Amino acid sequence: MKICIACGMPMKEPADFAMGDIKKDYCVHCMRPDGTIQSYEEKIDSLTAFIIKTQGMDRLAANNAAGNMMARLPAWREVSSK
Ligand SMILES: [Zn+2]
Repeated sequence: MKICIACGMPMKEPADFAMGDIKKDYCVHCMRPDGTIQSYEEKIDSLTAFIIKTQGMDRLAANNAAGNMMARLPAWREVSSK
């Protein structure tokens, strides 16, 4: 089983993969409408919104939490070590 390199979600079914393509390393939630992977900024924005909604944090705390989560994921290791 693969996990998404951008958000860490386990990908079990072809429908979980970007474009339904099991050769992709990222999931359907981390792709743009054209099938390419979202940028760091796009992903941190959507993750921040998700944390605010699910955990009720304020925007700054949620943004920090999102950054910490993403720092552990392969897709962003280089971006976040800058
Ligand atoms: Zn993902």
